Amino acid sequence: MRLPDDELLVLDRRHLWRPYTSSEDHESRPLFIVDRAEGPWLIGPRGRRILDASGSWWCNNLGHGHPRLRQALGRQAERLMHCTFGGATHEPGVRLASELAAVAPKGLERVFFSDNGSTSVEVALKIAFQYWQQNDRPERDLFLTLPGGYHGDTLGAMSVGAVDEFSGVFRPLLFEAARPAEPVEYDWEPVFDALVTRLREDGDRIAAVIVEPVVQGAAGMRMYSPTLLAELCEATTRADTFLIADEVFTGFGRTGPMWASDHARIAPDLLCTAKGLSGGVMPFAATLATDRIYEGFRGGKERALMHGHTFFANPLGAAVALEVLAIYREDRILERAKPKAARLADAIRDMASLPGVRHPRALGMCAAFDVGQTGYMGKIGWEISEVALELGAHLRPLGNTIYVVPPLNIGHDDLEQLLYVVRKATERVLVKDS
Ligand SMILES: *Cc1c(COP(=O)(O)O)cnc(C)c1O
Repeated sequence: MRLPDDELLVLDRRHLWRPYTSSEDHESRPLFIVDRAEGPWLIGPRGRRILDASGSWWCNNLGHGHPRLRQALGRQAERLMHCTFGGATHEPGVRLASELAAVAPKGLERVFFSDNGSTSVEVALKIAFQYWQQNDRPERDLFLTLPGGYHGDTLGAMSVGAVDEFSGVFRPLLFEAARPAEPVEYDWEPVFDALVTRLREDGDRIAAVIVEPVVQGAAGMRMYSPTLLAELCEATTRADTFLIADEVFTGFGRTGPMWASDHARIAPDLLCTAKGLSGGVMPFAATLATDRIYEGFRGGKERALMHGHTFFANPLGAAVALEVLAIYREDRILERAKPKAARLADAIRDMASLPGVRHPRALGMCAAFDVGQTGYMGKIGWEISEVALELGAHLRPLGNTIYVVPPLNIGHDDLEQLLYVVRKATERVLVKDS
């Protein structure tokens, strides 16, 4: 029997502790009860439908309830839901590792599985660090990053992240990472120049450089030129250190090509993937590494990578991820998203005609603009989000950055509807008398 709505909401407010939500908001903000979901739609208990503009926190690349993912999950559940990978193996895990290596940027042949994006980053950091520790360069213990990076919420991932509103309170617990100053007026060139200089002068201290390629998600969907990324990649090669591409958000075609690294035609040494990897359906993640890195772990027990998780290579997650890859291939997801990405970019660019809208930007199926003063603590974004909910879309802002990351396979009419709601909600908040 279904819980009545009011009872559900009372229990929610009494017992849940939601991420990144103040107790005031937890107790006062309207909540949309999701009963089912299909495609880009979240559907309430009495059939009210709203569009999921944030891709359920950036992971829902193929829409909700994709019939092939449901079937793949069901089929796998009948055979094997989970078992150890210690001294045992199974087909979904093995096939997924080899298929991921085949679609990844060149040279990433080794796959380490885990179950969320933060962990895939922790694993990349630990691999890089341990590599130098046991391969005669223990002084390489410093990570170099971009200002404003976000790599997850565990302590290591926060250490290389730089969104102060998220991790400031934990600073005393975090290890040191080096990062240049913030870009001024969206000019990233000095930022990358500083990284390249640091690598030239101090490369022997650097364990790895970690970046979100081309789009910094949590910093506010900030975008920089792939040329800068390509130059940074060259500089890491010259310094003979590692580049970690955190593609947790940008992977699986979110920015156009399969990986945002592809915009720069680079092959990182380590790559983190989660979110879209399992179609936004299962907690699943992977860290990919080159053979060179794996070679640095060859030998006895004392040289093994010291990391592991209970749900390593979980067969349900692996089976869903395999089906995601099959859908991308067979339905030509990336190719078919192109006209939608173009439409999205046009519509977002048009938002500039509204007073108070700044810096509209889009890449692939990811688009954003800023309102009012930037910053995560901004309030206007939330006002727009509340109006959007009334108009039929779940739009979760990053402070005063409004963004949309719809499924790559969203239908034409649904996309138009979503763009209409974004425009209307923004207009209502920013333009008096509209
Ligand atoms: C979301 C995100 C993470 C963290 O992933 P979780 O699954 O939420 O732990 C790491 N890096 C980037 C770039 C992300 O967008």
